[in-house]
Amino acid sequence: MTATLTRTVQPWRLFRTTVSRVQRLSSSFLRITFAGPELMALGDDRDDQRVKVILPAPDGSLDVGDADGLSWYQELMGRDAASRNAVRTYTSRHVRAEQGEVDVDFVLHGDEGPASRWATTATVGDEIILCGPNLAHGGPYGGTSFKPAPGTDRFLLVADETAVPAALAILEGLPAHAMGAALLEVPHADDMLPVSAPPGVQVRWLAREDAAHGALLEPAVGNLLQLWLGDRHGADSSEVELPVDPDGYLWDVPEQTVSGEFYAWLAGEAGVVTRLRRTLVREHGVDRRSVAFMGYWRAGRAEG
Ligand SMILES: Cc1cc2nc3c(=O)[nH]c(=O)nc-3n(C[C@H](O)[C@H](O)[C@H](O)COP(=O)(O)OP(=O)(O)OC[C@H]3O[C@@H](n4cnc5c(N)ncnc54)[C@H](O)[C@@H]3O)c2cc1C
Repeated sequence: MTATLTRTVQPWRLFRTTVSRVQRLSSSFLRITFAGPELMALGDDRDDQRVKVILPAPDGSLDVGDADGLSWYQELMGRDAASRNAVRTYTSRHVRAEQGEVDVDFVLHGDEGPASRWATTATVGDEIILCGPNLAHGGPYGGTSFKPAPGTDRFLLVADETAVPAALAILEGLPAHAMGAALLEVPHADDMLPVSAPPGVQVRWLAREDAAHGALLEPAVGNLLQLWLGDRHGADSSEVELPVDPDGYLWDVPEQTVSGEFYAWLAGEAGVVTRLRRTLVREHGVDRRSVAFMGYWRAGRAEG
């Protein structure tokens, strides 16, 4: 008798990739196109689909083990922190699986972080590994956080530059009749990238220049809510603790089941997002089950 061994197809896997194009989009955004035959198996749930970027270790090596599943991560985290590969989270801005290509838009924020440092000097032919959705699994793969209830037609998207790639992808996928607004704070005026959004969704770019992170976004959100909701105040003063995951990241993505007055998606620096979320829920009484908020990074703290 022959035993049949079945192996579950994992929703995520590793992809060996090579930089095939480096394109400076603006002062702060650098688009890097990764290519390779393995990427023909890259899945994509769109919206704010994320991937993990695994960079060469300080000695240049790129050996992170098993291509399937996530066991590689545990194995990697068991290695010496100073010499292992850095892993960072990014948005897959465009996936062209049939061509074996994916674009990732990196915000350049200096050479303090390994990802920004790597991107700054990336050239065609450089190799990295991506961890992302596995087409063979069939999806949904996980790794998206935009979860409005079916039938929702009013949206508020709020993002800093790190979440602009995700916000632009979400805007591209909204139904043509969608209404609402997107407020996007970027470092400089030339960081205002081309947008494709339904006509009923007003897209407003805010160029921070020398101001602090969130300095323009926070009043802009307050003013918009005043316009949309008037003087209504939140009754939810009981809420003190915000959900923070074991790594210290601020993350709450309620699966909206019933369509409310609008669905809000907030992503960016954790402290700014915390204050924005308070503005919505406490100051303006927006139902917290309609607010997804994600700390994409935390000032003064490296990812992981
Ligand atoms: C779901 C998700 C999707 C994301 N998508 C993108 C994306 O498409 N493009 C993108 O650029 N980023 C994206 N980010 C944010 C990115 O993961 C972080 O900015 C990450 O910290 C960058 O890694 P690093 O190695 O450059 O810096 P780290 O080593 O993580 O941090 C080093 C230092 O730099 C600071 N820092 C980190 N990011 C910034 C920044 N942008 N500006 C100023 N200081 C910073 C940290 O506070 C820390 O002090 C995403 C994050 C998440 C969670």
